[in-house]
Amino acid sequence: MSAPRPFPGDVADDRVDEEFWQGCREGRYLLYRCGACGWTVWPAGGCPRHGMAEMTWQPASGRGRLHTWTVVHQRYGSSFPGPPPNVAIVELEEGPLVLTSVIGADRLEIGMPLEVTFTEIGPEVVLPVFRPPRAGEGHG
Ligand SMILES: [Zn+2]
Repeated sequence: MSAPRPFPGDVADDRVDEEFWQGCREGRYLLYRCGACGWTVWPAGGCPRHGMAEMTWQPASGRGRLHTWTVVHQRYGSSFPGPPPNVAIVELEEGPLVLTSVIGADRLEIGMPLEVTFTEIGPEVVLPVFRPPRAGEGHG
């Protein structure tokens, strides 16, 4: 019997998404994109016009804007040490809305520009999170 992995270590159990999680471990943010029309989806799924035939993981901009968020004050586990985490939805430049967290921001404001970064929360478990762009790296 293998040692239990700490929650949320099971995030990579879906094999379709393994390339995405491997990208996170390597500091690359990938989105599932249709090669025929460019339609982009998260999580992985089929293109409404072309199905799964042309879907592959492709490098994404890593940029987006804060769509909404909440702060979690009640902890249900020890996987996330530190201050109360926020749970955010970021609208990516490519279109999908992703569930994530924002770090490194003094305050959060709907519509604020964000960029992806990665945080290792356990062995082989690296999560994409978002932060305000560094000075000089902002986007309109
Ligand atoms: Zn398509």
